[in-house]
Amino acid sequence: MTFPPGMLVTTGIDEVRSEVAAARADQRRIACVPTMGALHAGHLSLIEHARQAAGFVAVTIFVNPTQFGPQEDLSKYPRPLDADLKACRDAGVDLVFVPDADAIYPAGFATFVEVEGLSSILEGAARPGHFRGVTTIVLKLLNIVQPDVALFGQKDFQQQAVIRRMVHDLNVPVEIEVRPTVREPDGLALSSRNVYLSTSERKSALALSESLNLARKRLQDGDEDLNSIVQSMLSTLRSKPFVEPDYAIIVDPDTLQPLSRPQSRMAVLVAARVGATRLIDNLIVELPGDR
Ligand code: AMP
Repeated sequence: MTFPPGMLVTTGIDEVRSEVAAARADQRRIACVPTMGALHAGHLSLIEHARQAAGFVAVTIFVNPTQFGPQEDLSKYPRPLDADLKACRDAGVDLVFVPDADAIYPAGFATFVEVEGLSSILEGAARPGHFRGVTTIVLKLLNIVQPDVALFGQKDFQQQAVIRRMVHDLNVPVEIEVRPTVREPDGLALSSRNVYLSTSERKSALALSESLNLARKRLQDGDEDLNSIVQSMLSTLRSKPFVEPDYAIIVDPDTLQPLSRPQSRMAVLVAARVGATRLIDNLIVELPGDR
């Protein structure tokens, strides 16, 4: 592995700690961007924002085995490490932590963190154990890096809600900042998993953002029949070849509980299989006035 100059790349927990301690002693604010690599413009927008918000930016790259189910894509998940390191260097990252799985989960590892309730619905129902893996790795990374601020994408809407809940409940001394979803020009949300899509699946995948836009328009036009909006979203998804919706739902952005009538701030969430690839997307819809 060749390490770009001007940026420390390390697999070592102790080295992360000493670098961060030195930056803190230098009065620099510490930002952390946890990722699974295969970096795209969505990750880079988090890194750019981290750069603005802090004097020291740490990016973690770790394809976390505990958040993948037995039938999921752990072994084929893309791992273009050299390109990722170049992207980090070009973006002015100070430190990239690329741990080995054995260092994160050594023999005898036995402690998991679970946010009850929020972790078992929607993505958690479709992917049992997923959020237990996410919260465990994110808490470990926050304990290793000890940043002042950690940045997450709205793209993984339930993930940021689960992480915010964990940080609040466990008094983790970190600010969580959530940044907007970066999309392709045609609306498809960037995802490391988009590389799995064939050309025709890629076209069909647009159904996710189309269904969200449809929901937003109807809500903004004053439609109060949330059930009918959800049904139209599902029809939009099903109208495209290869697309099998998992769920389309309009929820409260904090509790993720389904709404029976519109409120001033709503999250519209969608998950669908496009061929063999499972994709998720979401939008926040805000309506003017008190409701
Ligand atoms: P991942 O590498 O998929 O675990 O994602 C790492 C971080 O990047 C998470 O906080 C994601 O929510 C965020 N992210 C992924 N895709 C996007 C996107 N299209 N726009 C903004 N942030 C994203």
